[in-house]
Amino acid sequence: MLSDTIAAISTAVGEGGIAIIRVSGPDSIVEVEKLLKSRTPLSQAESHTVHYGHIVDPEKGEHLEEVLVTVMRAPRSFTTEDVVEISTHGGVIAVKRVMDLLLQTNVRLAEPGEFTKRAFLNGRIDLSQAEAVIDLIRSKSDRAFSVALKQVEGNLSRRINELRHTLVETLAHIEVNIDYPEHDVESFTSELIKDKSRHVMDEIDKLLKTAEEGKILREGITTAIVGRPNVGKSSLLNTLAQDNRAIVTDIPGTTRDVIEEFVTINNIPLKLLDTAGIRETMDVVEKIGVERSRHAVNEADLILLVLNSSEPLHEDELALMEQIRGRQCIVILNKMDLPHQLDMDIVRRYYPDELIVPMSVKAQEGIDSLEESISNLFFSGKIEGGDLTYVSNVRHIALLKKARKSLVEAYEAADELIPIDMIQIDVRMAWEQLGEILGEAVGDSLIDQIFSQFCLGK
Ligand code: GDP
Ligand code: ZN
Repeated sequence: MLSDTIAAISTAVGEGGIAIIRVSGPDSIVEVEKLLKSRTPLSQAESHTVHYGHIVDPEKGEHLEEVLVTVMRAPRSFTTEDVVEISTHGGVIAVKRVMDLLLQTNVRLAEPGEFTKRAFLNGRIDLSQAEAVIDLIRSKSDRAFSVALKQVEGNLSRRINELRHTLVETLAHIEVNIDYPEHDVESFTSELIKDKSRHVMDEIDKLLKTAEEGKILREGITTAIVGRPNVGKSSLLNTLAQDNRAIVTDIPGTTRDVIEEFVTINNIPLKLLDTAGIRETMDVVEKIGVERSRHAVNEADLILLVLNSSEPLHEDELALMEQIRGRQCIVILNKMDLPHQLDMDIVRRYYPDELIVPMSVKAQEGIDSLEESISNLFFSGKIEGGDLTYVSNVRHIALLKKARKSLVEAYEAADELIPIDMIQIDVRMAWEQLGEILGEAVGDSLIDQIFSQFCLGK
């Protein structure tokens, strides 16, 4: 199955200084050699060396591109196979020329994620590490990147392996005990099972506790900016994002759709959603926007409610405050540069003072205190540096919970002195469920699904 050789463009397509084509598989060196004119024939090149040369059309003899070629021989490569990387000039034409020629040889186009899949299938990395490669590519903040990198390096795998090791030892004890079923030995084994299951359960709990933080780090805190039309939502988003993605206008209701922007505030990654003005409306176009806003509000980890301080409170705003009651929310009193009209008593009834931030987006006032309020809400000592083993993948979280459940059952059974061979089943199950995190005994369809999330060339 892995005997064929694959190739893909591994850099982003578009204009750039250089582009890289990656070739992996048993024929990668000989096939590239056929197209390359260089001082050292590639088949005689040592591993991890770089060679200057020209890609030549073997039929026409025409020089098509000037390249640098890197050779990495098996097993010292990402896929553990022979790998050749061809650096070409940037831009679409150069890479296309080389790719076209390559694909006429005994090399086929790689599927998305196929290089990483090979690394996994060849045992170079486990499944949780492969999944972290996706996180790495998609990370939106420094911290998310560091967390993913630690997982690629195997931090999570190591901890899971430690727990599995404990469970295997326990299983070995049980096995011995089944052969010598004297009574004292049996109750001793029950105690041991209780001890070990409790220990592994505690460790799983620690990992699960990181899950929430992991989600925040990977995706950013989903933050919905809501409020009536024209209160300054888009202006706020622009100020926070410091570019002009959302269109700011004077016509109420012009933000029809939900606009997303990733920003980092005091090192906290936020996914900002600028929603259309939430209000009951008969306008069909706007209604779609309003539906999306509702959805955005429901999904949000944090809501920024923007009110116009220069106007009395509107009934739509009362309804909105009712709707988001009990949610993590910061109220922004915008347009403080204009004469004050808003009845603060009503607003305070809904929100204690510390969550109300007076602001003028126009005069750029109050931005700092908003940013401070956001970081106070989320980082009141919650996330600390150092240990970067975070669980952030829903698949991993589900498996950790399953394993925990099996261990609770083992613990309770041991406590009730149920025959040891019955308990063995639960302990083994926990061991298997933890193994699935690393990709042991998982089905092909799951593997395909995971790797299909990758971009081409990875
Ligand atoms: P949205 O509909 O809630 O997204 O509101 P916009 O961001 O499109 O802003 C509507 C109008 O209010 C624009 O003309 C903004 O320039 C103006 N605006 C926004 N913030 C302020 C502010 O703090 N003071 C004043 N005076 N005008 C503002
Ligand atoms: Zn807007």
